[in-house]
Amino acid sequence: MPAPEAQILLIGSELTQGRLVDKNGSFLAQELSQMGFFVREIHILPDDSHLLRSAMKSALKSDSQLVLSSGGLGHTSDDLTIELWAEVLEDRLLLSENILSHLRGLLHARGVTDLPYLERYALVPEKGEALINPVGLAPALYWEKGSKVICALPGPPAELQAIWHATLKQRVQKRFSTQPPLTHTIRTTGISESRLTDLIATWEATLPSTFRLSYNPSWEGVSLHLQAPPDTAPAYFTSFIDTLRETIRPYLYAEGNVSLAEAILHHLKGANLTLAVAESCTGGHLAAEIVNIPGASEVFLGGIVSYSNSAKINLLGVSELTLRTEGAVSETTAIQMAEGVRRAFGAAVGVSTTGIAGPSGGSAEKPVGTVWFGIVTPHTRQAKRYLLSGDRKTIIQRATAIALSLLWQSMQ
Ligand code: ATP
Ligand code: MG
Repeated sequence: MPAPEAQILLIGSELTQGRLVDKNGSFLAQELSQMGFFVREIHILPDDSHLLRSAMKSALKSDSQLVLSSGGLGHTSDDLTIELWAEVLEDRLLLSENILSHLRGLLHARGVTDLPYLERYALVPEKGEALINPVGLAPALYWEKGSKVICALPGPPAELQAIWHATLKQRVQKRFSTQPPLTHTIRTTGISESRLTDLIATWEATLPSTFRLSYNPSWEGVSLHLQAPPDTAPAYFTSFIDTLRETIRPYLYAEGNVSLAEAILHHLKGANLTLAVAESCTGGHLAAEIVNIPGASEVFLGGIVSYSNSAKINLLGVSELTLRTEGAVSETTAIQMAEGVRRAFGAAVGVSTTGIAGPSGGSAEKPVGTVWFGIVTPHTRQAKRYLLSGDRKTIIQRATAIALSLLWQSMQ
């Protein structure tokens, strides 16, 4: 059975003018895809009644069996969604005394006696239903028309997600009895997307045409996501994953929803090793990535942000001579920083970053984006240089990810 089709209308001029970055489309698309829908289109539309009406009409005429909209349910003049849905669905909105008293109860509990426009949130479609909003006022409006389901959800992401989890997801699941596809994610680091493509080309050629492989590159590495139709025999699916795993073994750091920092901490914990970091150009970002992981304290002893030369000398024991002759952004400084932080914290593994994040401070010999990384473990001492592109923020982000990647690679 082919996957049922869905489409999403994201409504709001803040979105089409680029003042707001969408969260609802990505949330709904991910949920629907995981359930087994084929999300065929996501439209972003301004608060314009002509454009909205025509998008709604064409959604109803399309093969999409499920049409979800987000935004425009409120009481301001730019909130047009529910009237327009009622119009194109040939329905009327009626005031529901039940919902009105439910909303009054909510307000009462918050110590608010009355709110202008409250009645607006108590409008219910005559041929549809209102789905209660567990975290806000505006309910979602829900219609079943022929073989289609239409639902208008509020714009604030927390409200949209709360309604989805509280009622809409179950409704949709029941109505369409979708079957989730088989999926698996394998995460790699230390290999570029193009080299990875070459490495798995032979394996990829053996994939059945109904399987979908996607590459998801990030600063930390490239993740591979394999998806197969719901009726695929699990053992058959697993056999492809097993071969892939063997093919990319040296670069594979985790499977499923695991970050690189998480994989590193897990590995260090298993090997009974502790970690400390000395950061110059990443200014604490590396330590922050590590402490974001629950349980980091079992492995991570601490970090030093040694931004100035004097901090490198006094806190980490970097030699003055090295700084004078080779500079702060150099192989020897990176090694001495990693050694120094290892000593300062009594850690098994020390990692350092030192570079030029820009926009100024570069030279012909050491252009902006030059970053040295040092890694010292009980058995190894190594430094590596990268030339990173991008603005200051991007260079810091990339350097943080590369430090994690090099750390992981040093443990293999
Ligand atoms: P309200 O009753 O709060 O006005 P609404 O359903 O009318 O809700 P909108 O007015 O369209 O929703 O949007 C309200 C706010 O919700 C926006 O200012 C924005 O902060 C957030 N929001 C709306 N749509 C999105 C989206 N697609 N992604 C992220 N945030 C969004
Ligand atoms: Mg609004």
